[in-house]
Amino acid sequence: MATPRHCLHVWPWIKRPAQRFLLPHWEAITIGSHIISWRPLGDVDLAHELEHIEQWRRHGPRFVLLYLRAGHAAARAGRDRYRGNRFEIEARAAAEHIRSGSGPGAHSREGP
Ligand SMILES: [Zn+2]
Repeated sequence: MATPRHCLHVWPWIKRPAQRFLLPHWEAITIGSHIISWRPLGDVDLAHELEHIEQWRRHGPRFVLLYLRAGHAAARAGRDRYRGNRFEIEARAAAEHIRSGSGPGAHSREGP
């Protein structure tokens, strides 16, 4: 997969409010092609967020609804709303691809 066009915003001040109102272990959120994080992201975390950019690109603005619905579906199936969300499962798989050394970042760190 080619690296999707993205813009990474590192805002340390957002850590606390987002941990309080979003998720306690929050590290980054992706909205459209914008990744907002409270700390710089390594290749593995970036791969996770880039997968969310792909999901946004695939579904457009209705991705928000689909994402929330996937969380509900996971909860109804007895899984964790976040970890069991199919979009998060996809993003974790993309990150794992990089972590295991089989992703494009394993051979070259040069991007377009
Ligand atoms: Zn995610």
